[in-house]
Amino acid sequence: MVDDATLLAAVAEQRADMERLLVELVEAPTVLGSEAPGQAIMRRAFAGLGLEPVDVALDPQALRDHPGASPFSWDVSGKQNVTAVWPPAEPADGRSLILNGHIDVVSPEPAVLWSRGPFAATRDGDWLYGRGAGDMKAGLAAIVGAVGALQRLGLAPRGRIELQSVVEEECTGHGALACVLAGRRADAAVITEPTGGAVWTSQVGVLWFQVRVLGRPAHAGEARAGENAIEATFPVVRALRALEAELNAHPPPPYDAYPNPINLNVGIIRGGDWASTVAGECVTHCRLALYPDDHVGNLRRRVEAAVAAARADPAVAGFDVEVRYDGFARDGYSIAADAPPVGALRVAAERAFGVAPAVVASTATTDASILQLYGGTPAMCFGPYAESIHGVDERVHLPSMVQTAQALALFIRDWCGLKPAA
Ligand SMILES: [Zn+2]
Repeated sequence: MVDDATLLAAVAEQRADMERLLVELVEAPTVLGSEAPGQAIMRRAFAGLGLEPVDVALDPQALRDHPGASPFSWDVSGKQNVTAVWPPAEPADGRSLILNGHIDVVSPEPAVLWSRGPFAATRDGDWLYGRGAGDMKAGLAAIVGAVGALQRLGLAPRGRIELQSVVEEECTGHGALACVLAGRRADAAVITEPTGGAVWTSQVGVLWFQVRVLGRPAHAGEARAGENAIEATFPVVRALRALEAELNAHPPPPYDAYPNPINLNVGIIRGGDWASTVAGECVTHCRLALYPDDHVGNLRRRVEAAVAAARADPAVAGFDVEVRYDGFARDGYSIAADAPPVGALRVAAERAFGVAPAVVASTATTDASILQLYGGTPAMCFGPYAESIHGVDERVHLPSMVQTAQALALFIRDWCGLKPAA
C-alpha cells in the first residue's frame, strides 16, 4: 500500500499542470449554450491521462420522460457530457467511484463591476480570478491532477473510476441526468464543487418558476385607462417573500443552523417595452429552495397558492396572473454522515487539508442529488476554497485545488484500492 507522503508529494508535483488546465478552462466562457469549447478542453485533458474520452449526449425526449427531469424550453440537442473510464487492474476487486464536475458557468454580468475581465483568468499570488474559477473549474482540474499523479506513480485502481465533465448543472442537472440515463453508476461519487474543504452531505432542492402578469397597455398620457403589469408585480413579490418567511419559520435539522436556509431569489424581471406606454406584461423569474424532506410538487402548490392569494390585493385584482415553470424542479437529498464513503472522504480530507473537515448541509443544490436519487450512487460534494461564486471577482485559492487533488488521491487509495499498473 502506497503511503500518504508519497501520494501527497506526487499530487503536489501536478500543481503546474493543474493550474495550466484551470487557466485554459476559465478562458473558455462556458455559459449556457456555449459549453462546447470547455468540453473540448476536458476531452483533451482526459486523453492526456491516457484514457479514452466518451461523449454522453443529452437526448431531449429521454430527459423529459425521466421523473427527475426539470422542464426546459431551450434546445439541448447536440450538447455533450465528456466522460472517461480509468479501468481497474485485474482482478477488479475494489469499489467503484465517479468523480464529477460541471463545465457550465453562470453569466458574469454586469461585467463592468469586475476589476478584471471575467474570462481573463488573472492570477494574483495564490488566487486565480475568473467566472467559473471556483464554480467549478478548479474542481475539474483537481480531478485530472489526482488521476495524473497516481498514474505517474505507476498505479491503477482496483475498482472502476469514471471521470465526468457535465453540462447544465446550473439550470437543470440534465447533464448529470443524461449520465444516469446512460447507466453510469458507482459505489460512490465525489463532486468537486467549491466546498472549501468541507464535505457536503445534504442539500436543498430548488424550484425555478416565473410569474407572468398581463395588464392593459395604454398611452402614458391617459395612464389610468391602462393597467400596469410591472406595478402589479410588486404585491406578488411581497406575497412570495411571505411564503419564504413561512418556509424559514421552523427549519428541520440540520438546516436549523442557518438563520434563513430557504432563500427566494428574484433573479430576472422583464416588463413593459416603452417609456410612454403603460406596461402590458411583466415576467418575473424566481428561484426558491426546499428542504430535503419536502417535494418539489408540494412547493409548486404553495407558490401557486401564494400567487393566488396576492390577487386579493386590489392592486392585482384586475390582472391575468400565471405561474410558469422552466428550469430547476429538483428535490433535495441527504447522505448519512456515517455512510462508508463519507467516513473515508473525511479521513482523506483531514490528511490533505491538515484539519478535520466540516460536514455541511448546503443551502444550494448540486448534481449530487441527481447521482444519488436517480443513479443510485451515494454522492458527496468536496472541493477547493473559492470566494464570490456567482458574484463579482470570483476567485479560487490555488493551494486548495492541490489539497483537493491530494485528498482525492488518498480517497481513491482508501475507497477503490490501488495496485501497480499492469
Ligand atoms: Zn457548481
